[in-house]
Order: sequence, then C-alpha cells, then structure tokens
Amino acid sequence: MKKEKRKSTESVEVCRLLLDLIDASPTPFHAVREISSLLVAGGFQRLREEEAWNLDRNGRYFVTRNGSSLVAFVCGAGPVEEAGFKIIGAHTDSPNLRLKPNPLFKKNGYLQLGVEVYGGVLLTTWTDRDLSLAGRVILKARKGTSSELVRIHEPILRIPQLAIHLNRQVNDKGLVLNPQNHLSPILSLAGKDAASEAFLKDLVSRELGCKASEVMGLELSLFDVQKGCMAGPGQEFLFASRLDNLASCHAATLALLRAPARVDPTRVLAFYDNEEVGSESAQGGASPFLKNILERILIHSSSGREELLRAMARSLFISADMAHAVHPNYSEMHDAQHMPMINEGPVVKSHAGQRYATEGVSGTRFELLCQKAGVKVQKFSIRSDLQCGSTIGPITAANLGIRTVDVGNPMLSMHSIREMAGTRDHLDLIRVFTGFFSED
Ligand SMILES: [Zn+2]
Repeated sequence: MKKEKRKSTESVEVCRLLLDLIDASPTPFHAVREISSLLVAGGFQRLREEEAWNLDRNGRYFVTRNGSSLVAFVCGAGPVEEAGFKIIGAHTDSPNLRLKPNPLFKKNGYLQLGVEVYGGVLLTTWTDRDLSLAGRVILKARKGTSSELVRIHEPILRIPQLAIHLNRQVNDKGLVLNPQNHLSPILSLAGKDAASEAFLKDLVSRELGCKASEVMGLELSLFDVQKGCMAGPGQEFLFASRLDNLASCHAATLALLRAPARVDPTRVLAFYDNEEVGSESAQGGASPFLKNILERILIHSSSGREELLRAMARSLFISADMAHAVHPNYSEMHDAQHMPMINEGPVVKSHAGQRYATEGVSGTRFELLCQKAGVKVQKFSIRSDLQCGSTIGPITAANLGIRTVDVGNPMLSMHSIREMAGTRDHLDLIRVFTGFFSED
C-alpha cells in the first residue's frame, strides 16, 4: 500500500513537469527550446552543425536543426564500436492549423485568417475552443536574418460551430468540415479601422518588443490556450494538447537526465519535427540528421568506417510514439486480443507490413527492460481489416539499419486538440527508459 502511494505521488510529480513542458510548447520550435533548457540545466552543451566539434569522453551535448528537431547525446565511457548507441527517438510536432503566407481576409463584416491543415487533425475538436497564435518570427538582422519565438497568451481566435438550428442533421450525420471553407478562425470584426495587411506583423512585433518593419517572415500556428491538467477522481488521467508526442519526448529527456553520468554505450535522444506529415524534410525522421551526428561522434573517437558499421550493428533504437488505448464506446475498433488499457504500461506495437519496425528480438529486448523496471507491458496489433498508422520507427530503421522497436504509452483522443492519457503510464515509461539508459 505504501509503495502504491509513493508511486502515485511520484507520477503526479513527473506529470506536473510534463504538463509544464506541454503548456510552454505550443509549437515544435517552443518544444525544442524547452527541451534544450532542460538539457542545459543537466550539464549538456550546445553544439552547432556548422562548427567544428571537440567531443570529450562522457561529454554531454546537443544539436538542433531548424530549431524544431533536436539530437542530444552523452558520449560513452567505452569504445563506440564495442558498446554501440542506445537511442530513443520521438517527434516534436503535433497536428494543428497553420497560417497561410497571406492569411488576413475580410468576409461578411469579419476579419478572418486563412489556415492550412498540418497533419491528421481531428478537425471538429478545433471548433468552439479559445485559440491563439504561436510560432517563429524571422527578423531582418545586420547580416541576413535572425529568428525569435513568439506566443500570444490571450485567446484571440475562434472557429465557431454553426448553430444546430442551421444544421439540423449534425447529430445524425456528424460535423463535416471543409478545410478551405469552414476552418478559418474569426479574428475580429472588420470595422472601418479594421486591421490591414500589417496587422499580424504589428501584433508579433509588440509581443517581441521590436519594430514591425524588422519582421520579415511569420510561421504561426493556432493553439488552444487552455492548460493541460491531471483529472479523474484519483488523478489517474492527463487531459492536455500535444500529449502525442511531447509525452514521449519528455519521458526520454527525463530518463537521460536521471540516468548515471557514465556508462559504456553512447546514449542518444533524437526528436524530429514533421512526423505528422511523413517525415520527409531536412529536419524530419527521413533526413540524415541523426546519421550525420552518429558519424561525427565516431570520427571524434578517431574511428573509421568499419567501427561506425560495427557500432550500428550493436545499437538499439527505441521509437517512442503514443499508442491507441481501447475506447470503451468503440471497443470493436480494436483486435480483441490487443486492447491496450490506460495505466497498464507501455505498448509494444508490431505490424507485419512494417508500419511499425518492431521484430522479435527488439520487441523482447523492450519487454525485458520493462520487466527489469517492474513495469507491466502491453502489445498492440491493428485489426486485420484496418489500415495501420505509422511513425518514425520504420523510417529511421530503414535509414540507419539499426535494430528498432516501436513503443508508446496508450492514449485516447489521439490528434484531438485535447488528448487523454494516464498519469501512471508516464512514470512507468520514464522508469523503463531510465533503465535503458543506465545499462552498460
Ligand atoms: Zn505521434
């Protein structure tokens, strides 16, 4: 009983940290900035891809690309070709609505913003929420450009639903939203003094404390201003935006920070942007970002190509992304033998068609890690008559040739503006990952 109580206090503690990360990270740019600060506080040093590196044995480093993807590593105490890499990968992006390059327009007396759909958004969940804008601002600098992150804290946008009186069949037919016609949020009333083209630049420059004329480019997304919370009579649930996949990024980061400072293998975090749109970008899972860094680590230990290939062959990549818990109102959507439950431990995902990279050995190695950490483990396989989603696991496995396992914590409402997961699961995943990063 005492042990149970301790576990629940501990899970509340780590979930508070997770919710802080999520609330501070409305976009992948913010997520990378927040994770970078956690790493710096943990003694990690920032490296830049364009500079020459000097790596120390047991040194702690991180690199970002495009400000939206991040690779962190702790150089191993042992020779890399003997100890290999231990990698946990996840993604920093979440499905959302993004402003178009020329977003402002007036219609029927309203001032509105044109948006694009980023990733597999559960569109209806973005209606009738208190929304705002966040993202990256490109500024004119003395030499070229610089960029700053911005976030408007107040709710300034809304996508109102049509009243039921004007859409009588909505409860029978469901809410069908055309992305071009029905998703443009209302910003304000388009009165005589309505905002001009410069309105958004003025808005962000006020927030940043710079001149509007310095603002060259805007990469802004919509987000829900409501903060995440723990919920349920026993605080067993998490209700928040972007649990997919900031929860996995958080669990892996905390694990690396909590693991012993020195072990033989070189431990790596690889957090990618653009997973939700297929990973094909300079900073996505299909890019050579991680491969380049693994090579540079090897070059620094004065090893050759053979050592790199030997190191890869000794490595394990854990691809962490959220999993589908069984929904009690739609349990027929799961295979009856594979119904992951919230707070019953991480899920190992497999798919014969390789939409998940798990194979027998990598799956078993993860199960053993769970056993060692005293954590229950579950298995997921999609119904044979449904199409399977995918994640960075198969893409990085094909790219690097490293043995890979796809895992993740069970959740509901995946890709909703407000998702749902379990508090106990988050602590359990941190324990399993910490065990992974602690082994010699
Ligand atoms: Zn995901």
